[in-house]
Amino acid sequence: MIIKDAVCPFCGCLCDDIEVEVEGNRVVAVTNACELGKTKFMGEQRLKNPILRDGDRWKETTYDEAIQYTVDMLLSAERPLLYGWSGTHGEAQCVGVHMAELIRGVADNTSSVCHGPSILAIQEVGHPGCTLGVVKNRADLVIYWGSNPIDAHPRHLSRYTRYAEGFFLENAFRDRKVIVIDVRKTETANIADEFVQIKPGGDYAVISALRAIVQGKTGTIPRTVAGVTREQLIRVANLCKSAKFGAVYFGLGLTMTQGKYKNIRNAIELVGELNRHTKFTISAMRGHYNVYGSNEVNTWMTGYPFGIDFSRGIAFYNPGETTAVDILARKECDAALVVGSDPAAHFPRKCIEHLADIPVVQLDPYPNATTAFCNVQIPVAVTGIDAEGTAYRMDGVPIRTRQVLSSDYPSDREVLSKMYTMMREALGR
Ligand code: SF4
Repeated sequence: MIIKDAVCPFCGCLCDDIEVEVEGNRVVAVTNACELGKTKFMGEQRLKNPILRDGDRWKETTYDEAIQYTVDMLLSAERPLLYGWSGTHGEAQCVGVHMAELIRGVADNTSSVCHGPSILAIQEVGHPGCTLGVVKNRADLVIYWGSNPIDAHPRHLSRYTRYAEGFFLENAFRDRKVIVIDVRKTETANIADEFVQIKPGGDYAVISALRAIVQGKTGTIPRTVAGVTREQLIRVANLCKSAKFGAVYFGLGLTMTQGKYKNIRNAIELVGELNRHTKFTISAMRGHYNVYGSNEVNTWMTGYPFGIDFSRGIAFYNPGETTAVDILARKECDAALVVGSDPAAHFPRKCIEHLADIPVVQLDPYPNATTAFCNVQIPVAVTGIDAEGTAYRMDGVPIRTRQVLSSDYPSDREVLSKMYTMMREALGR
């Protein structure tokens, strides 16, 4: 059986043109996906049953026991952390927020360690963004700043920019210019029309120089800015001003480098100034599958996109204080539920050491780095492959994902809903 128009559940591109060939409830071939997507669809070696730590060994347990363990752990915790959420659907994220509110815990998602600073900048100055479809059909200039889509979002280039046909571009490959701005020559830089190499930590200065040139203050620019010559800065600014429609896509190389959210604010303001000359947009290259959705769901439920602390009985948000890394580093949290992410693969050592000291339950189909720090791991259906639901693409477009395999595994939403019901009963609410 061939399933058409399946949605890839790996990166924020959420490619929705995937063809999946299924035989005997196994994926045997995947068409249109990149290697990352294919590997996700064909992934194996998942856990068969929930596992429970027993001394220095694992023993298998039942779903009922594993769920009961999690409910008891969260109800007896004083400062529980519910973390992750970018690898699961909006329906499960919604239950997670309800759970965090019920037990006065902290709900945080992976954006607090990726594009959290970008969101802070957008909260300050807004977001002149657009959908990927608009860029594909209209943009004659695309800038990748601190992002390397060939490695992280491989089909971004073929579906929307470098190699994509555009409705309003006669010959998109010839007429669309691509500029890469980065601290090193990446694979994406190799296929760009112009590569601007910045000294590490120099992004803010380069954005400011481009703003000055766009404002006509070229005489104020020194001979080099963060390793970039004045001539190249003027050339890039002129390319931007003369484009009919420009789009900036920035990655963690801009958001998580020196300057952090100030870089993004400065870049948004550069785009604002370019809009006095032509049309320009700017958007983040969101990485994890449904990380954009976790921000959306949290925001429409609580008013805040990540790092939401319910310990006061109301939603409280203060990134740097109420975010997972900070709570773990201060050894504040005394239990953690991890859903749809792998914090042990990304968090600083100090945080992981604290995770090793507290009870941790993880919902994930596969063993991963966090498994080593869990007391219980509950295998669930693979989101977007054997469980359908809603995910948000990196440009904020919600997409209904398809189920391509049938499965006996419960989905994240089903397991979380059961936990939530048991907690409400235990608390009499
Ligand atoms: Fe999947 Fe991303 Fe590759 Fe598209 S670009 S197929 S969403 S991994």
